[in-house]
Amino acid sequence: MVRVAVIDRDKCKPEDCKSICLKFCPKVKNRIEALRIDEELEKAVIIEKLCSGCGICVKKCPFNAIQIINIPEEIEPECSHRYGKNTFKLYRLPTPNSEMITGLIGENGTGKSTALRIISGEIKPNLGKYDSPPDWTGIQKHYRGTILQSYFDKLASGKIKISYKPQYIDKIPKIVSGKVIEVLENIDERNILKKILFDLELNKVINRPLNALSGGELQRVAIAATLCRDADIYIFDEPSSHLDVSQRIKTSKIIRTLPNEGKTVLVAEHDLAMLDYLSDQVSVIYGEPGVYGIISHNHGVRVGINIYLNGFLPDENMRFRNDSIKFHIRPPRESEDSEKGSRIFWPNMIKDFGDFKLEVDGAYIDQGEIIGILGPNGIGKTTFIKLLVGIEKPDNESISPFIDLSLSYKPQYIYTEYDGAVSSLLKDAVVENKNSDFIENAIIRPLKLYKFLDRDVSSLSGGELQRVAIATCLAKDAKIFFLDEPSAYLDVEERLAVAKALRKIVEDKEAYAFIVEHDIAIQDFMADRLCVFSGNPGTNGRSEEPLNLRGGMNKFLASMEITFRRDRETGRPRVNKTDSKIDRKQKGLGEYYYIPRE
Ligand code: ADP
Ligand code: ADP
Ligand code: SF4
Repeated sequence: MVRVAVIDRDKCKPEDCKSICLKFCPKVKNRIEALRIDEELEKAVIIEKLCSGCGICVKKCPFNAIQIINIPEEIEPECSHRYGKNTFKLYRLPTPNSEMITGLIGENGTGKSTALRIISGEIKPNLGKYDSPPDWTGIQKHYRGTILQSYFDKLASGKIKISYKPQYIDKIPKIVSGKVIEVLENIDERNILKKILFDLELNKVINRPLNALSGGELQRVAIAATLCRDADIYIFDEPSSHLDVSQRIKTSKIIRTLPNEGKTVLVAEHDLAMLDYLSDQVSVIYGEPGVYGIISHNHGVRVGINIYLNGFLPDENMRFRNDSIKFHIRPPRESEDSEKGSRIFWPNMIKDFGDFKLEVDGAYIDQGEIIGILGPNGIGKTTFIKLLVGIEKPDNESISPFIDLSLSYKPQYIYTEYDGAVSSLLKDAVVENKNSDFIENAIIRPLKLYKFLDRDVSSLSGGELQRVAIATCLAKDAKIFFLDEPSAYLDVEERLAVAKALRKIVEDKEAYAFIVEHDIAIQDFMADRLCVFSGNPGTNGRSEEPLNLRGGMNKFLASMEITFRRDRETGRPRVNKTDSKIDRKQKGLGEYYYIPRE
């Protein structure tokens, strides 16, 4: 076994704990310097070769700063990168097969972005030798006999041009300024801007400065910029964030044209339906988030995604998760059976902002029910939620419909003004709720919040902050829960953990929930009925009475002219190729979502 030790430098404070880990390390007691305080860094460091991995320091550290994992010895020579001493370690790299789209799937923190940054040339792989990194000759020697050898040869000699869309697009307006059209015209090396602006529906915003765009608009501009460059390799790190379903499909269709022009594409993506639709092959990344990640060989798309869901890599005989993830087809709830007393109603509502008008048809939600909300961006979904929560007032009603009920709301955009640790933020929510064991078991554990309970809220990544915001919302002693885009920045397991936590809370507390969500697989997993919005984004929107899952999906997918089938092994929804036999058959039957029984 090889030891991988990771010490979080932000958490490690030897002066505060009086270097308690040193006092308990049995190796140190025997004068073997497996653990010491680095005088320059003023932090603990572990010499992995000398450490026995007993884990005592992990338990003794009062700040949860140390993690130690044993991994099989055989993998060690395959280390591709390590950022520094006692930091995250990446093994292997994805293989960019020419004229193909390679998808990457894995938990957050297992190294997808690191791998993509290496392939893009932004990071030179150090093969784990962070203190004496190899030169390009050493790197090529390491990858001798593989596609990566010639790839790095070309990359080193500047013969490969890369176009790269990073994961965190919010940084772009801080680096690039100007109007959308000016920025894109400057980089339109392929002379495709006119078509891209039309296909990605960006014409409405071309005269806006980058720093005035919404998340979804900025994402599409970043994708357009990546496509406009004339490159050999195109890399997209999480292209679906902030996009609605129709934009995800349109973006996928455009990216799919690149291999036909001789281009090679790599994509990291958490939306299973989009990854499935986009990729020609899939590579799975597994490991321990924040500690190490191992990249699998390439597999066919269906097989690769199913390997990830099953948690087992047959070709390596490696089980990387105890449970497999299954998408069960639930029987539709029979709302009519519900007792009348437990049903709550909202009236017809109108909200006119001047430029945008929303009309809501009155309807009801039953106790223990989750209503999913689907529709394009800018159609009024958030406004609908705000009307129900009481943040906005309907023009035709004097009071908000749920005024007498206890509500809990996670907005779409989360701000980090809280000055303090995650634990104290949660405590504030839990104090209101008497049953803290329930919170621990139903929320904190499944969402794996214990990993960063001590961290300051202001230091969290996008995904961590999202989980904390969801947990704070669910921990409240409320009767109705509202979650606006809970999946943004979360990986598949985190999305499913949120879905399960919500279902449990809604069922156990006999509560009610409304969820705005663009990930079809997650909406399918969570929602009992669907409220589908129609209209013209940015101009007018209408919310009709919620339909059962099948009816709602049919209505929504028919409007986008796409059909889904279910994967026979995992039950996950898969997008049918346009005009394929099954696509034509389902459209003929008007069954856009469920495969009709033979
Ligand atoms: P993913 O894309 O799968 O979420 P990343 O590649 O972004 O994973 O990160 C993998 C791990 O590497 C994380 O624990 C992250 O904190 C760590 N990491 C990323 N960049 C650096 C860096 N510059 N220095 C040290 N650690 C880093
Ligand atoms: P969605 O959640 O479906 O993306 P929103 O409800 O956020 O849509 O927005 C629908 C439309 O209403 C957008 O064009 C938005 O700019 C507009 N809008 C939202 N809130 C306001 C407001 N307070 N004043 C004026 N316009 C608004
Ligand atoms: Fe020492 Fe290693 Fe045990 Fe930590 S895990 S106490 S460094 S031997």
